[in-house]
Amino acid sequence: MEDINFEELKTNGIKINYYYVCKRKLWLFDRKISMELSDRMILGQIVHQESYKRDKPKEVLIDNLISIDIVDNLNIREVKLSDKMALADKMQILYYLYYLKKLGINKKGIINYPRLRKREFLELTEKDEKEIEKTLIEINKILKSEKPPPVINSPICKKCSYFEFCYA
Ligand code: SF4
Repeated sequence: MEDINFEELKTNGIKINYYYVCKRKLWLFDRKISMELSDRMILGQIVHQESYKRDKPKEVLIDNLISIDIVDNLNIREVKLSDKMALADKMQILYYLYYLKKLGINKKGIINYPRLRKREFLELTEKDEKEIEKTLIEINKILKSEKPPPVINSPICKKCSYFEFCYA
């Protein structure tokens, strides 16, 4: 694959996450079609804040686009409520590692699941970089589309904040 135009394609971590959860959700979120926060999202924010109070990582906002928890010299982290969306969560933090690498900073990643008392450790590989580049190109295509991608009819829809919107 040729080098991508990262400056043009770069995006935030939530969109990378949503790409792997549901492409329709990504499109709706991008159009700022916001629904009220679901209980699950509110709980996720509380878990994040509680975890923050305990370990106090340094939060850094880069390019006004991605917000990264710096744990120490070696690691960044992402705090998640559950591991049900493990692939999306993994790709989100790998994207942060990719983004940092583009800035000349090499880190490793940790996904912290405080409620499960579990941590996952990640390192960015060449294969991951190619996957992220492919994803950035795909996200760009989806967001340029006039119409949202179709409803996915998945069990995850029941817990999605767009459920009413998609199934009304
Ligand atoms: S309700 Fe389902 S189809 Fe609609 S945005 Fe959410 S996950 Fe996607």
